[in-house]
Amino acid sequence: MLLKSTKMHHLEYEIDRNQFSMMALEEMVDQNSYARLVDIFVDALPLDQLGFTHCNHELQGRPPYHPSVLLKLYMYGYRHGLRSSNKLHQACMVNVELWWLLKGLKPSARTICYFRTNNVSAFKKAFQHFVLLLKDWKLIDGQTIAIDSFKIRAQNSLKNNFNQKKIDRHIEYIDHKINEYHTQLDKEDNTDTISEINDKIAYQKSKKQNYKDIEKQLNDSGQSQISKVDKDARSVVLHRNIVNVGYNIQAGCDSKHKLFVNAQTGAVNDTHALADMALEAKELLGLDKMKTLTDKGYTTGAELAKCEQNNIVTYSSPKEHSSPNNGLYPMSIFNYDKVNDTYTCPAGQMMITNGSIYNKANHKVKHYKTKACKQCPVRHLCTTNKNGRFIERGIYQQTLENNENRVNQNPDYYRLRQQITEHQFGTLKRQWGFTYTLMKGKQNVLSEVYLCFSVYNLIRAFKIMDPKVLKQRLKNLISCVFDKIDLFKALLSPQNYFEKFLGISLS
Ligand code: SF4
Repeated sequence: MLLKSTKMHHLEYEIDRNQFSMMALEEMVDQNSYARLVDIFVDALPLDQLGFTHCNHELQGRPPYHPSVLLKLYMYGYRHGLRSSNKLHQACMVNVELWWLLKGLKPSARTICYFRTNNVSAFKKAFQHFVLLLKDWKLIDGQTIAIDSFKIRAQNSLKNNFNQKKIDRHIEYIDHKINEYHTQLDKEDNTDTISEINDKIAYQKSKKQNYKDIEKQLNDSGQSQISKVDKDARSVVLHRNIVNVGYNIQAGCDSKHKLFVNAQTGAVNDTHALADMALEAKELLGLDKMKTLTDKGYTTGAELAKCEQNNIVTYSSPKEHSSPNNGLYPMSIFNYDKVNDTYTCPAGQMMITNGSIYNKANHKVKHYKTKACKQCPVRHLCTTNKNGRFIERGIYQQTLENNENRVNQNPDYYRLRQQITEHQFGTLKRQWGFTYTLMKGKQNVLSEVYLCFSVYNLIRAFKIMDPKVLKQRLKNLISCVFDKIDLFKALLSPQNYFEKFLGISLS
């Protein structure tokens, strides 16, 4: 019997809670549900070859969950902002789509958690496997890879992150407090109060010893900072000068359909990230040459030169010259002669180098000068140096200039960079809540990143392709995954991967 609303302008309830009903789970899940896509996708992955644990197991003892069950759960959960093992476990209890997806299995939070930590490298291989699949389907062409980064918070508070300056500040404060207590002691006669102050001094001394221990750990590590809870996490600028402890995630995206190609994490800024990211993407996609688009944070001479040597054409926003000219002649009016390796100054004098290379703040430079500065009539407009003007030219300056010319001559092409990368970051952070990681340690954090990127690519592929075609292609693969596939050989030679290793045409 239907319950009727007491107010006639409200909708009536459709189900009586006490009514007995029979229906299959299959009927309860929409045909276009994301859960159905995940189901086919995971079944189409060669989990054993990708290195997932428990694909095969002993007959004795309690059987484990098949990795496909837990991978489906994670891929479903990450799409819906369910990332913690407890939340995923709860969802298994109440979420009808998960009942359908896992066919009634309800893994414990601990099992869910262990699966993520025990399959770190498998998540990466699964992501790379999917990227190659997308390349084979012509959704990734590898002509242009835009590389950019975003920051996420780590499982380590700012309070538990130290550098030498911070340790010195704490020790100075403690010394100051101890001095204050000693002054109080000098004036105090009451024995109870003296005992109380002595306790306070002992407490401050134990705190000081703690900071001394941290200082030793910092010096032993050879790093500029140390995190107590997550050793790999670093102090990073998250957003508009807000500093927190976290990771700087590097992401490479293909320009054709804005799909993720690769990811890395490590340094807190992008200065030395370009070449590694570009080379990894080039190698994975099996390309002879490619182009990269990056912002000015990546513009470092050595990185651009490494790309140039490996047939990678960079379009990285040029950095402005860092040394101020203080109203003196700017560098732009000194002409460089590539053939003779000399400069011509505004007074028409030739500035030459002795050929020596000098180390200067992480980069190498050559010096150029002329003896004509001594009698130069415009010297007051050129330099305040008593020995005359000298120019420092980085050994990668020509590479930097070539890159700058490419960017200036192709402004529309360079502007594609923002369109290719930044939308994805917004989706991951704003919609899926990937502003922090649940894992500790660089490799574990990367496993979360690969999961997120795999889910993003899957959803994006679903939107780009006809859903029926995508599902059919995945179904075609399901029957093949039990064949022996040498993934590593495939990664080395991804050309026509699926035709070659599975013997089927997917086009
Ligand atoms: S000061 Fe030296 S470098 Fe500058 S314009 Fe005169 S000669 Fe040229």
